Parts: sequence; structure tokens; C-alpha cells
Amino acid sequence: MPGSERAAHLLILGGTAEAAALAAAAPRLAPRLAVTTSLAGRTEHPAAIAGRVRIGGFGGSEGLARYLAAERVDLVIDATHPFAAQISAQAAAACAAAGVPRLLLLRPEWPRHPLDRWIEVEDLAGAARVLPQLGRRVWLTVGRRELGVFAGLTQHRFLVRLVDPPGEPLPLAQCDVLLGRGPFNLEEERRILRRHAIEVLVAKASGGAATEAKLVAARERELPVVMVRRPPPTPGERVDGVAAALDWLASRLAAAAGNRKEEVMR
Ligand code: NAP
Repeated sequence: MPGSERAAHLLILGGTAEAAALAAAAPRLAPRLAVTTSLAGRTEHPAAIAGRVRIGGFGGSEGLARYLAAERVDLVIDATHPFAAQISAQAAAACAAAGVPRLLLLRPEWPRHPLDRWIEVEDLAGAARVLPQLGRRVWLTVGRRELGVFAGLTQHRFLVRLVDPPGEPLPLAQCDVLLGRGPFNLEEERRILRRHAIEVLVAKASGGAATEAKLVAARERELPVVMVRRPPPTPGERVDGVAAALDWLASRLAAAAGNRKEEVMR
């Protein structure tokens, strides 16, 4: 880490509740710590985030490596979504090239309850393949950009919940749209299943309390859930929550402060 005249600079790769919680808590560890959170820019009105926020892609791992150097980033915490595999791989490559320590914050998977009727599939295409055997009225809890995979299922009626109103027609023949931003509570999810006579749910194994209630509601109604497995995590240092990420940050900052003290005494 650089000389003592400058605060350390932490870059949080965000787009999750954990990233927002980290951005709020990290400065309490060291008042002179500069914290920047990076968002891809997928949502029109992102939730409020403490500290500096930058929005938009970096331009691949080379672009991110250039950003790390230009902004003199000392530490990176990748707190992106478990399915955001591309940015995580790019962060791993960029940090390795730039010699910047990186931590992956990966939230735990949802535990499977004995009464859950999950059909696990490798990817969204796999989910589309199994749907015809499971039911016609489908709640698709996937992102707007991922809906195209289900376009061929013209006999199905889909329900989609989006953060922002869709600017253009969705690529689904029969589709109802709900607007909402998590966290979602159990009563809300029960109501949705009832009102839309949902027969099957499609979910990504994202984990996290904010979107878990839909699984409880589906279990109560004994509905099948097509669960898309997570991509493998990037190798390297990894924790499963905000508290552990703050511990990592504290130990990195303490080690850097120790190094600086030694340099001054030499
Ligand atoms: P992705 O496929 O891993 O990344 C696609 C590209 O988007 C990356 O190559 C990068 O562009 C840019 N990008 C992604 N995350 C970024 C970030 N935090 N800051 C700056 N650029 C970023 O990502 P994704 O699955 O589309 O997810 C996009 C964002 O939404 C992530 O930040 C993620 O945390 C959040 N999110 C994703 C999901 C999901 O299910 N995938 C769910 C909830 C939230 P360049 O190559 O130009 O740098």
C-alpha cells in the first residue's frame, strides 16, 4: 500500500445488498479509507450507496487493470452476485496482473428443505427444456436480459418481476409483468403465487434472505421449483458474508499500517 500521506483505496465490485452494506461499514474501520463502489449500470435507479459510486463496465480485465492503476486502488472486494461470473473472472485476472489483493464475498447457497420440490439444472437453457413437463403458468425469477431463453415456449404464460419498467416489449409470447425491488416478504410471495395461479417457479440459486421467501411460498403450495445451479466461484480468498469481509479488510489495513511504520523506522 502507498505512503502514509494517502488513505488506502478500497474498490467494491457491487450490485448486491452485501456490497452496499460493506460500503457503509468499511469507513468505520479506518476514517481515511477511501471507498468506491462499482455498479454495472443495469438498473435505472440503483438503491443508495454510501461513499463514491462509479457506474458502467471497465472494458474487460485490461480495462479494470488500467482503472486499478489510474485510481491507485489498494484492495478489491468482489461482492458481485453469485451469477455475475464474467466480472468476477475479470476482477481475478486484473487484480493478479496489477498485484492488488482481492477478496470474493460469496453469499451462502439456500439450504434445501426436505419438502422442497427442486429440479436442479445447469443453466437457464436447461430450465427452459424441463418446463413443458412441469406446468404452463410459470413465475420466472430471472433477470430481464435472460428472458430470451424462454422465447420458444409460446404455450406458457409467464410472470416476470422487474426492478424497472421494461422499455421495450419482452421476448415472451404470453407474459405478465410485476414491478418490485427486494427484499420481498412471505405474504407478498404467497399472494403472487395465488393471484397468478403459478404452477412452477424458475429461480437461480442466488442465496440471500432478500429473495428466499418465494421458495418458502412455493414449498407451502408444494410447487416444483426449477433451480439453476451457480457457476463455479473464482479461485482465491473467499468469505461468505459482510462481517467476514470486514475482518479481511481490517487485517489487510493493519498489515499495511505495520509495513508503513517499519518503513518510517528504517
Ligand atoms: P457479468 O455477466 O458478470 O458481467 C458482464 C459485464 O458487465 C462485465 O464484463 C463488466 O463489463 C460489467 N460489470 C458487471 N458487474 C460490474 C460491476 N459491478 N461494475 C462494473 N462493471 C460491471 O454481470 P451480470 O450478471 O450482467 O451482472 C451485472 C451486475 O448486476 C453485477 O454487478 C451483479 O452484481 C449485479 N447483479 C447480477 C445478478 C445476476 O443474476 N447476474 C443479480 C443481481 C445483481 P466490462 O467487461 O466492460 O468491464
